[in-house]
Amino acid sequence: MWVSTSLKEAVEKLPGYEGLERIWAAIPQTRLVGGCVRDVLCGHNVHDLDLASPLPPEEAQQRLEAAGAKVIPTGLEHGTITAVINHRPYEVTTLRRDVSTDGRHAVVAWTDDWQEDAQRRDFTINALSLDQEGRLYDYFGGEEDLRAGRVRFVGRAAQRIEEDALRCLRFFRFFARYGQGTPDEEACQAITQLRERMTRLSIERVAMELLKILAGPQLLRTMKLMEQTGSLAVLLPHHAPLSALERLLACKDPAEPLHRLAVLYPPGGGDGQGFDDIGAHLKLSNDNRALLAAFARPEPSLAVTMDDDALRRVRFVQELPILLGRSWLIQARQLGRPDAEWSMLRHRLAEMAQPVFPLAGRDMMALGVKPGPEMGRWLKRVQQWWLEQGCRADGAACRAWLLAQLPPC
Ligand code: ATP
Ligand code: MG
Repeated sequence: MWVSTSLKEAVEKLPGYEGLERIWAAIPQTRLVGGCVRDVLCGHNVHDLDLASPLPPEEAQQRLEAAGAKVIPTGLEHGTITAVINHRPYEVTTLRRDVSTDGRHAVVAWTDDWQEDAQRRDFTINALSLDQEGRLYDYFGGEEDLRAGRVRFVGRAAQRIEEDALRCLRFFRFFARYGQGTPDEEACQAITQLRERMTRLSIERVAMELLKILAGPQLLRTMKLMEQTGSLAVLLPHHAPLSALERLLACKDPAEPLHRLAVLYPPGGGDGQGFDDIGAHLKLSNDNRALLAAFARPEPSLAVTMDDDALRRVRFVQELPILLGRSWLIQARQLGRPDAEWSMLRHRLAEMAQPVFPLAGRDMMALGVKPGPEMGRWLKRVQQWWLEQGCRADGAACRAWLLAQLPPC
């Protein structure tokens, strides 16, 4: 969506605008930069307010502190300080130019030249800045590129990738989010030529970018582009054919990156070559790895034909996000049932409270069962009965059933 309100008005409506006003009162030359300007322009939600200033970081810090803001020197060596105003962080970075680059990181020097700072940014759509009057500074045609869905490097694509190979992944990240029409040819050629450089990046960085790419609305086109440039095999070795992902996307999935990753690595390995732990390969967090493993487990099974009792049984043993994730994966893999049936199943699952088994050890003791292995066995039996009843029996009913089963004392 493209917004036509004046930029000043759009900025005034941003959450955290009061903090911006205070920063502008302390350092009037400060401008909003990078992603927040891009997102204001196209009406997306703005999540971080990043600013740049021509003042050296120490001076910016002094001015902001004098204006009563709490300032944390979060990255002084990169020129970044964080002002915290009304509990909200604002990163203020001194304008920089690259002195030297090593394929990932740059040695930088401060500058007071806005264009020099814009020049070291990756894409034209990320090199925009906006001052407190709502004036847009667009040195490389970023606004027009954003309108056209063009992700274009600032400067020569190959040189920018040689400076920092992460930019290949960033290209795909922004293409997945904003890309329209034919992708920039120069960028694609440079990525094809330099794709092996991505293998030098830390896998954690690669994984962070991949998860962002996988959340993108233009994912399928992006994945095909990654395939065409030879990047996909570098980044996601042994993935399943893209047709599996295509089916998931056709189900209008909720753009959850882990579902999309899971569909590319079904149980047994993506391309059948035994590469089955993509979570370990990407060094994902333990939580994300546990989710991927749970998506892949065949039990408890899930089907649109399940009645409420059966659904309560699976809901008892499994958390909702896992069940919802599984439902999308099964829907994508098993064609044949209408999408509406799967939506209804998810609706029923989401409405259902997780059943709680109503007996505990002390209830058993009150009925004369001795603590120890015997109690464990009886608890298991009564739980099995409760599950068979669709998790509906309350504590009294469970006690009554148990009493009827217990041998007379
Ligand atoms: P998002 O909404 O995904 O956070 P963003 O544009 O804010 O998008 P960030 O990774 O937060 O992206 O980076 C902030 C800005 O810093 C970018 O818009 C870009 O101008 C600049 N930038 C970040 N990383 C690089 C890089 N590797 N090379 C060049 N410029 C970069
Ligand atoms: Mg950002």
